[in-house]
Parts: sequence; C-alpha cells; structure tokens
Amino acid sequence: MERFIFDLDNTLLFSDYKEEKRYFNEVFKEKGEYFNTNINNWLIEYEKTHIRYDKELLRKFLEEKSNLPVTEIVIDNWLDISKNINYEIEDTAIEVFEYLKRKGKNIAILTNFIREVQEKRIKNSELFPYISDIYCGNYLKPNSKSYFEAIGSYDIKKCIMIGDSYENDYLGPRNIGMNSLLYDKDDQYKNIKDKVKSLNKIKELY
Ligand SMILES: [Mg+2]
Repeated sequence: MERFIFDLDNTLLFSDYKEEKRYFNEVFKEKGEYFNTNINNWLIEYEKTHIRYDKELLRKFLEEKSNLPVTEIVIDNWLDISKNINYEIEDTAIEVFEYLKRKGKNIAILTNFIREVQEKRIKNSELFPYISDIYCGNYLKPNSKSYFEAIGSYDIKKCIMIGDSYENDYLGPRNIGMNSLLYDKDDQYKNIKDKVKSLNKIKELY
C-alpha cells in the first residue's frame, strides 16, 4: 500500500459541537432546539442530493428544510465557529501517522463538508505536518469521482480509504475496486472483516 486516504470527522477528529448548538439557539431562539435536533439529518440529506458542498446551495437547502431564516450571515457565522470548534484527535492517530511516514507512505484526507472549514481545522491540528493532500468539496463521497480525485496519479490497488462511514468510507471505495478499511470503534459492524477498532491496528496490518 502506498497511499493512505483518511476520512476526517469521527475517524481522526472528534468534535464538540456545543458552540454550534449555542449559536443556533441564540439565532433561532425557541426554534433553536428544533434546528439543532435536525441539522445532522439535513446535512446527510444534502449530501445525498447534491454533488458538492456549496455555501449558497447549503444555505437555501437548510432554509427550506427548517423553514427558518437561514441567512448568509447565519451561514458565515456558523462556519466561523465550525472552523475553531474544539476537538480531540483519535488517541493513536499521531503515532500511526508517524509510523506510516517512517515507512515512506503517503497520507491524504478525503472529507465531506465545506472546504474552508475542513482545511482550517486540519491546518490547526497536529496532524497537518503528515498530510500531503486534502480533498474536500469538489465531489462528495460516495460519488466515485471523489475517490478517483483522491487516488490522483497513484495506482488504485495501492490506495486505501479508511474511515468510520460504512457507505462513504468502506463501500464507496470498494465499488470502484479500491481497498478500504472501516474504522468501527464501537464494534457495530459484526460481519465486516476489514475493520479496525483503533487506528493503531494499521501498524500491524501495513
Ligand atoms: Mg467520518
């Protein structure tokens, strides 16, 4: 294996979304709780119905779904908070990245969300020095184009996608003949062989 392509959220970074929740409560007042309860499902639906993340498309979509005044300012403020959100890095991620680098492997990120947010969060993290490329926003996983973009000039057989989403990080890559490894820290997928509970296991496998 030459190129290790990692998902970001809930694979490498575990975020604390309470600042976002606080913001939506402040903006939407008594409807804030409703917005906070539903935003994750709306984002999942957005990803299923759009090719890429675009601020204006996302704004319109959230406005339609919530029936609340999701203005440009609301989106911009939200994304600013999102860029600086608190997170924890997966316990073993740094030592795994060090291990992979020592072995001459290449590390990239393929993540779904607004590029400016994901890029800022990665650049502010300790993971950044190990990462060669960040793919975000041109195509959404599980669109095959997203994986092909992340594979770049590498041999598809020498690339592996690693992440916590069964559809986006495990199945999507396999559908185009790429290797994948499911990061299943809570051991939810009993029937899948190619999975790890901790990223640390990568050191034994490659
Ligand atoms: Mg994820």
